[in-house]
Amino acid sequence: MDKRLLAKEVFNRLSEIYKNPKIDLEFDNPFELLIETVLAAQERDEKVNSIRKKLFSKFKSPEDFAKAPIEDIKEAIKSASFYNKKANMIKEISTILVKKYYSEVPNTEEELVLLPGVGKKTANMVLANAFNIPAIAVDRHVHRIVQRLGLDENKDPDKTTEHLKSMIEKEHWTKFYLLLLRHAKEICVAKTPKCDMCILKDICKYANGT
Ligand code: SF4
Repeated sequence: MDKRLLAKEVFNRLSEIYKNPKIDLEFDNPFELLIETVLAAQERDEKVNSIRKKLFSKFKSPEDFAKAPIEDIKEAIKSASFYNKKANMIKEISTILVKKYYSEVPNTEEELVLLPGVGKKTANMVLANAFNIPAIAVDRHVHRIVQRLGLDENKDPDKTTEHLKSMIEKEHWTKFYLLLLRHAKEICVAKTPKCDMCILKDICKYANGT
């Protein structure tokens, strides 16, 4: 099947089963989501959600993180993996936001990727979910499912992002990626995909051994 037709078919079928797909991270504003993406590196989203309540009750703004002693930030996130490194990164990002962006999170990919530790995936995740700007964020889950489906063969997730964008109308970018993410997390799981119960089985390259 032509890749654009396949993408459309995947979009339509997954839209039937996931009515309002969302990311699992909980957040109240773009800044919180940006900080949570730092915490989420090699960490479960559930753990990040459990850390966020205490963290954002203590530090409410980029200024709060920028002014805080680094030991206080470490203490607040110490249950996260690599918390020393993450605390430094959070302070660094916050300081840049205060100095360069009037304590706001920028809303373009070009500006976001200039922040420490922020790549294309994180930038697009923030744009799509915190700013409602059409974007596709290719994390390991999305990358896995599009490869299995045969939608994309690129090893580099950044190239996959651009390829997926070319396959679907811009207004559907965010929903498309969130549908793929949800299905990858629930059905097309990493170790043993649940192909027998998958609504995409008949059109999937992996399931058909092609
Ligand atoms: S059929 Fe299997 S490999 Fe293909 S998308 Fe569904 S779960 Fe993933």
